[in-house]
Amino acid sequence: MDPSLAEEILRDGKADYICLGRGLMADPHWPNKAKAGRVEDIRKCICDDRCLEDIMIDFVPMSCTVNPIIGKEKEFEAKLPRVTKKKKVLVIGGGPGGMQAAVIAAQKRARCNIV
Ligand code: SF4
Repeated sequence: MDPSLAEEILRDGKADYICLGRGLMADPHWPNKAKAGRVEDIRKCICDDRCLEDIMIDFVPMSCTVNPIIGKEKEFEAKLPRVTKKKKVLVIGGGPGGMQAAVIAAQKRARCNIV
């Protein structure tokens, strides 16, 4: 859901609150990004139902096509090496892997340059 549509629904009194399901799995920071006006930074759910197939058909831990660390956040953070030397980062490819690489590089921006 687009945050402006959510705001419109609330403003028009068509709903008392808005629930997000898969949108929060795709980007758990959706509410904070929307509140900060960073709508373009929201990683959108592409509605491919991979998450639902995992838990309802394949009976495996849930995964997400656009959020590769879902359900593994602590494990993922623990495995991220600390950056001790400033480096230039070039991300080639805009698929989920490339996008996540760019996200991580941006999170470490204090010590990395993104080319
Ligand atoms: S797996 Fe697909 S449908 Fe499920 S939250 Fe991620 S992008 Fe959305």
